[in-house]
Amino acid sequence: MTTALFWHPSCREHNMGAGHPEQPARLDSVLVALEAEEFDELERVEAPRATREQILRCHPASHVDDILGSVPENGIVRLDADTSLSPGSGEASLRAAGAAVAAVDAVMSGKYHNAFCAVRPPGHHAEPQHAMGFCLFNNIAIGAEHAIAVHGADRVAVVDFDVHHGNGTQAMFARKPNMFFASSHQMPLYPGTGQESERGVAGNIVNVALPPQSGGEEFRIAFEVRILPALRDFKPDLLMISAGFDAHRDDPLANLNLVEDDYNWATSVLAEVADETCGGKIVSTLEGGYDLGALGRSAAAHVRALMAA
Ligand SMILES: [Zn+2]
Repeated sequence: MTTALFWHPSCREHNMGAGHPEQPARLDSVLVALEAEEFDELERVEAPRATREQILRCHPASHVDDILGSVPENGIVRLDADTSLSPGSGEASLRAAGAAVAAVDAVMSGKYHNAFCAVRPPGHHAEPQHAMGFCLFNNIAIGAEHAIAVHGADRVAVVDFDVHHGNGTQAMFARKPNMFFASSHQMPLYPGTGQESERGVAGNIVNVALPPQSGGEEFRIAFEVRILPALRDFKPDLLMISAGFDAHRDDPLANLNLVEDDYNWATSVLAEVADETCGGKIVSTLEGGYDLGALGRSAAAHVRALMAA
């Protein structure tokens, strides 16, 4: 069974200004790393645009109109201290969300075994009515709701190993017992949410807060003791992964000490649970990761595990 790589060249055209860590070169780092011969079997698919209807499952019309209506013809429009729009941002954001939707279509229909979406802008900080933290639309939540609405999935799980808490995804899922969100993240760190006491309804939110300087050992314990048992109990029909690689020890935005092998391990153990619960159906989408070298190598380690699953 094949692993697919969803991407689109327009995801390079979203540019928040010189020196911004969430930069177009991130996408190149990932794509170049996936050019290695070992990834020859990866099926490359250009992502369609998400439709308005698909985005409206997660965001009110006012948010969609605010974002798409604020895209400038020239220059940069700042939405907050660290999130901006450039002329290419509208198209990039629609393709980033559309990749998650198309990957869900392809995996739920059995066309591909699993899929990774190499896209930007990322999505997990985007709340229903707020762009924030480099995120405009919540790509993974839009994909998850699509699985429920169109493919008859009863339960969808998102596991988020980005170093930052996925506040947006949590906000969208917390009151929905058919949605599950588990996150490992550094605390204290932006955005400040993700306390272990935030448990949603029916324990469908699982937060594991790691202190600064935690490394692979603490990360693996978090998965083995907290995240994987809860995920097994939830029994998803589809497992999605918010794959941010900024918990890497080389990342400039945080202070955890993961290495490439930790991402390979986490992906492999998540794939084991997916095999047990949902026929191995996994859709992963890129979130953070700001050291260009570590990002490419870590994404390769992640995709290597998806292809071996
Ligand atoms: Zn992050």
